Amino acid sequence: MEKKVLCRERDARAERLPVPSGNRAFYEQKTLVYQGNTEVTQMRLGMCWLEPGQEVGRHGHNCDEILYVLEGKGTFVVGGEKYEAGPGDLVYVPPDAIHGGHKNTGDKFWRYLFIVGQVLQPLDSCDVCLPSGENVKPQLVKEVEE
Ligand SMILES: [Zn+2]
Repeated sequence: MEKKVLCRERDARAERLPVPSGNRAFYEQKTLVYQGNTEVTQMRLGMCWLEPGQEVGRHGHNCDEILYVLEGKGTFVVGGEKYEAGPGDLVYVPPDAIHGGHKNTGDKFWRYLFIVGQVLQPLDSCDVCLPSGENVKPQLVKEVEE
């Protein structure tokens, strides 16, 4: 894939991730900047949007993550603490902190950006490729059972 400087939303990779609660079995995520489409070496950036009542599953990884709310309202859960967050609010997730159970508590879409110190996707189902074209399964993320 051509390496980009300008990444347009319409060119983002859209994904559906499983969720533990809500009316649907998945939520939507778009990865805008990652190692597959840019020369980025230490992070990726994407956008999540959750329907009312939808929740992101718990997980952890050994790198920083920043979550920045664009619209709607919800609760982030980091290290067992809940943080109510709306537009303009930002949550920092330290390395190895278990987080998730992030939930839309409003009555419209809750949309936020995530910037995480991984270049690859955490899911087995993703089609992440290295610049060489080799498919790689990320090693940094683990799913956590309740
Ligand atoms: Zn995370």
